[in-house]
Amino acid sequence: MSLLVVGSVAFDTLETPFGKVERTVGGAATYFSVAASYFTHVSLVGVVGEDFTRQDEGVFKGRRIDISGLERAEGKTFFWAGRYGIDPNDRVTLTTELNVFSTFQPQIPDRFRKSRHIFLANIDPTLQRSVLEQIEGKPHLVALDTMNYWIESTPAELRAILRRTHILMINDAETRMLANEHNLLRAARHIFKMGPTTLIIKRGEHGALMVHKDFVFAVPALPLEEVHDPTGAGDSFGGGFMGYLASQPRVTDAALRRAMVYGSVMGSFAVERFGLDRLRRVTRKDINARARHFAKLTQFEL
Ligand code: AMP
Repeated sequence: MSLLVVGSVAFDTLETPFGKVERTVGGAATYFSVAASYFTHVSLVGVVGEDFTRQDEGVFKGRRIDISGLERAEGKTFFWAGRYGIDPNDRVTLTTELNVFSTFQPQIPDRFRKSRHIFLANIDPTLQRSVLEQIEGKPHLVALDTMNYWIESTPAELRAILRRTHILMINDAETRMLANEHNLLRAARHIFKMGPTTLIIKRGEHGALMVHKDFVFAVPALPLEEVHDPTGAGDSFGGGFMGYLASQPRVTDAALRRAMVYGSVMGSFAVERFGLDRLRRVTRKDINARARHFAKLTQFEL
C-alpha cells in the first residue's frame, strides 16, 4: 500500500551564501515524495501550471512516485523565493505567488482513496480536511505539517483537522504559537489534547525532537561540512520519516525512533546541495551508511 502526499509542487528561487538558483523545481510535496520514494511507493496529489514542462516532471521519473494525481491547471505554477543567511535557520521569504495553487481543490484519484498512510503537507487546513474526507476507511497514520500563517489566520479549521491527525510535524516557533506555551514539553501536552498522539518538532540545525504520549526521543542534526541550501529539509525529513514507517508492518515505538533517524538522514542529504540536486542522487547504500553514522554519533555507554 502506498503513501499518499498532498501539497505544493513549486518553482523555487533560492539564495544562500553559497550561490543562487532560479526557478528550480521544489515544493513541499516534491521534497517529501522524492525522499519517501527510497522507502516505499508514493502517490502524489498536487497542482502545477502550464509552465511545468515534461522535463520538470523528470524529478519524479524513474522513482516509485505515481503522479497521476498531479493536476495540470491553466495558469502558472506556485512560485516561492527565499533567502538564507549564514545561519541556515535564518530564512526570509522574498516572494510567494500562489498562482494555480490559489484555486486548488485536491481531487484524490479513486485508486489512492484506500491509502493507509497519509501526509498532509503545509496547505490550507480546509483543503487538508477535504483530503481526509475523500479517504475510504480508516487510515493507519495521518501526519500533518502546517505553518504560522494557518495557526494565526484559520485556528478553527486547523483544530478541526488536528482532531483527525496522529502525528503533527512542525518547528519550535510553530509549536509555541499553537500551544500558546513557551516550554516545548508543556506545549506538547496542550497539543495532545487537540488530537495528535505524537508531536515532532523540527529544529533545523539542532535536529528533531519527538514527544510521544509515553516517551521523548531526540535526534541531532548531522554535523555537515557543506550546507549549501536548507530548502526542503523539513519536507525531506517528513518523507524519510513517513516513507520508513509506511514500509514497516506496524507503527511500534521502536519503529518511530528509527523513522526519526531516517527522517534526519534524508534532511541531511537535502541540504548538502541546491534544491533537489543531492536528494535525487542518493542511493540506498548512502542512506544506510548515513543511518549508521547517526547511530555512531549518538552512541555512548554509562
Ligand atoms: P521546507 O524548507 O521543508 O520548509 O519547505 C520548502 C518548500 O516549501 C519550498 O520548496 C517551497 O516551494 C514550499 N513552500 C514555501 N511556502 C509555501 C506555502 N505557503 N505553501 C506551500 N508550500 C510552500
